[in-house]
Order: sequence, then C-alpha cells, then structure tokens
Amino acid sequence: MTHHPISWSEEVAKRKEELLHHTRAFLRIKSVLDPDTAREGAPFGQGVAEALAYVLKVCEEAGMKTKNVDGYAAHAEFGQGEELIGVLSHVDVVPEGDGWLTPPYAAEIVDGKIIARGALDDKGPTMAAVFAARIVKELGLPLKRRVRLIFGTDEETNWRCVNRYFQTEEMPTMGFSPDADFPLIYAEKGLTHLVWRQTAEDYRRAAAQAGEGPADRNISAILLSLEGGLRMNMVPDRATAILKPQAETAPALAERYRAYLDREGLNGSSHVTEDRLVLSMQGVSVHGMDPGKGINAATELVHFLARLQLDERAMQFVRFTDRCLYRQHYGEALGIAHTDEESGPLSLNTGIVQYAADGELVYHINIRYPHSHPYERWNPILEQQLHEVGLTQEVEDHLLPHRVEPTDPLVTTLQRVYREQTGEEATLIAIGGATYGRSLEKGVAFGPLFPGRPDSAHQRNEHLYVDDLLKATALYAQAIYELANL
Ligand SMILES: [Zn+2]
Repeated sequence: MTHHPISWSEEVAKRKEELLHHTRAFLRIKSVLDPDTAREGAPFGQGVAEALAYVLKVCEEAGMKTKNVDGYAAHAEFGQGEELIGVLSHVDVVPEGDGWLTPPYAAEIVDGKIIARGALDDKGPTMAAVFAARIVKELGLPLKRRVRLIFGTDEETNWRCVNRYFQTEEMPTMGFSPDADFPLIYAEKGLTHLVWRQTAEDYRRAAAQAGEGPADRNISAILLSLEGGLRMNMVPDRATAILKPQAETAPALAERYRAYLDREGLNGSSHVTEDRLVLSMQGVSVHGMDPGKGINAATELVHFLARLQLDERAMQFVRFTDRCLYRQHYGEALGIAHTDEESGPLSLNTGIVQYAADGELVYHINIRYPHSHPYERWNPILEQQLHEVGLTQEVEDHLLPHRVEPTDPLVTTLQRVYREQTGEEATLIAIGGATYGRSLEKGVAFGPLFPGRPDSAHQRNEHLYVDDLLKATALYAQAIYELANL
C-alpha cells in the first residue's frame, strides 16, 4: 500500500484523556452477575446490563451501528464488505472480594495503574478495542471488510452470552479476543469435565460379573465414607475418610496412619469418635490444568487406605483409585497419556472424590488434551476401564481443542503488528486453559497482558497500567485495520 504511514500510538495519544475518562466510568459500573436483578433484556442483572449499555453508547457516539441481542451480548459495527472481522471481549467481572487498597469500583489511578475490578479482565481491554475501532473509523481508512466489536456478558460464569449470540448472529470470518496474554495464543487444549459414578447396585453387578462374592471377613475396617475436593478444576486440598474399625483397633489404625504421614512427608490427622476413626489429609490446592504442582489430598489419603484390608466395595474403590489416579497426572495408568510438542501433555485432575458405603461413589475429573490426541481416540480406552469396575461416565462439559494454524494470515498479521509496534518478537503461545478467543470459529487471544506484567485478573487490587492500555489500543487499532484489509 502506498498510503502515508499511520502513527497508531500518536492517534491513541490524541485521545488519551477521553479513553481514560470512558475506561474509568465503565469500570465504576459494578458488572457482577446478579440473578436478583435479572429481568427480560437483562438476563445477568442490572449491573451487567448497565455496563453493556455504557459501552454501546460510546460506540454509537462514534457512529457505529449497534445491536443488543436480548441483553446476552451486543455488537457495534462499521465498515463495508462481505466478510467480517470480529473483536470479542466481555463486560462482566468476577466479584471483587476483600482486601483492596483502593475501592474496587473507584477506578483510581495510583502509580500509573488504573486499579479496579475489571481493569485487566476485561473492561479495560474492551474500551481499548472500542477506541481502536474508533481510530480506524475516524481516520476514514479504506476497509475491505466490516469490523464488529462483540461484547459478551457472561464470560466469567457460563458463556451463555456467546452461546445465545451466535445462535442468531453472524460468525466473523476471523478475529481476536483481548482477554488473555500478549503476544498471541493460537492453541488451546480440549477440556472435559467428566463425572464417574457407581451406585452400590452398580458395584454388586460388576463384582458378580468378575466372580467376586461378598467375603468381608477378617477385615481391618469398613470404609464408611470418603470426601475430598470442591471443584473439578482444582486439586483437592482437603480430604476426610471415616472408618469403622473391625479386626484392628482404632488406635492401631491411627498409628499406622501417623507412620504413613511421617514417611510420605504429608500433613494429616486422625481422631476417634465412639466406634469410628476419622482420618484427615491436607494437600496443596493448585489449578487443575497442572495437577502435578499440587498435592491431591484425596488420592494421597486413598493411597494409605489401599494398604488396609477393607470391606469388598471399598477395596475395589481404593484399588482402582490408587492404581489409576494416585499421582497419575497424565493418565499414564489409564493408558491415555499422550504428549504433543506444541501443546504439551494430556493432563488429568481428580478434582472431587466422594464415596459412601451404602450410597454412591462419584468422581469429578478434569482432562485437558492436545488437539493431536482427539477425544475419540482416548475416551473409548477410558470407558472400557471404567466399565470393568462398574463406573459409568457422564460428560458434564466438553470444549474441543481450539487452534489456528501458525501460518494462517490471522496469526502472521497479528505477529507482524506486534513486532512492528513493540519491537519484540511475537512468540506464539499454546495453553491448557480456555480463552474467550475460542468462541470465534477462527479466533486467537491477543493481549491485553504484556509479557513480564503480573496477572492481577480475579485478584484484589486488579490493575492495568495506563501505558499498557495505550499500547494495547494502538496494537488493536492497527490489527483491526490490517485484518480488515487482508
Ligand atoms: Zn476475561
């Protein structure tokens, strides 16, 4: 192209005060999910609806055409052409929590940082995208494609926003989401939330098929219950088992447990109440995408129980758990392990374990897998083994792996924009989590967090550097312009 080169950062600098004004006003709206004030047209409550209305007003004032899709999501569009470029961000925030140095909805600027819930995730970047689009529009640059800013409202909870939006609205040809990290995330693992269940009846059926009869004689104890974990995507930091001692006394069992804890370097305790022995284990909770970094209280406790002589059903439960889940963070023992050079290994987190002697055995499992090891390949192997022990599997949630070819013009263009403006190499990132970018059929995550900056999203004193807001706006402006002219 022969046009005079545009200084994107200068264009942003000219609008700095206005950008800061709107960003801060937007952050002062508490847009936390609030079912109590939900109504037609505001399915996630008043605050979220107000934040959505605010950002749409800024877009309308800039001359963009807006559409609010029943309050679930909205968009603002400009330009012309058959194809569409999408920029997807969200206006909802997670609850603020305690311990802030400045009020979480004051959006004060301290030491060059805007401090507010949503500053980084994702209202600051949302306003950056709005101003980026405004700059491209105000410069009157020729565009071959339409540009659409899409605003979601339920990213932090269930993504009901984009699910509803894309039922009726056009899917962009390509786009990006300013809701993660710079330089660029192009590959995300597949995510599953699996629930494995076994009722007492399921157990009896499986045991009968395997030719095992009830022979609960000379056992050390009956396992009455075991509970550990809160969420499928967290490593359990606490687990408790209740035993009813039989051939061994409660003090003898407690002593064995103490020795086990000492030997393994684990934290736990035991106490005796009437005829029961309660064993507690403390682990270390980390995010379920990297379970090897934590200590799983539930499976560490099971590993102890596996050395006792328990009642038949408990034996099956602890043996299966010990063999297949104890320190098996990559599904090795289940035969589903696989490593991909690009995205890393399949990971398996045992997030919740609940066992009741006369009730159900339930596991909540989080498996994250690279695109080169599809669900269809590993799931039958898993199902077969679950079947053998009378466990059934429900797929509570499943997000397919998401990936855009590194050679795709979407990726190479954004890389070039990043390199030109920052002077840094735009290294491509593959991750185990899920970014909003995967809601677009062909979408990547592009910012707003620059390399080396602490990630304060979802934490107290969440903040965005004013400089980073300006830099991101300039990057988004050029990105929009270049993608719209590919
Ligand atoms: Zn976000």
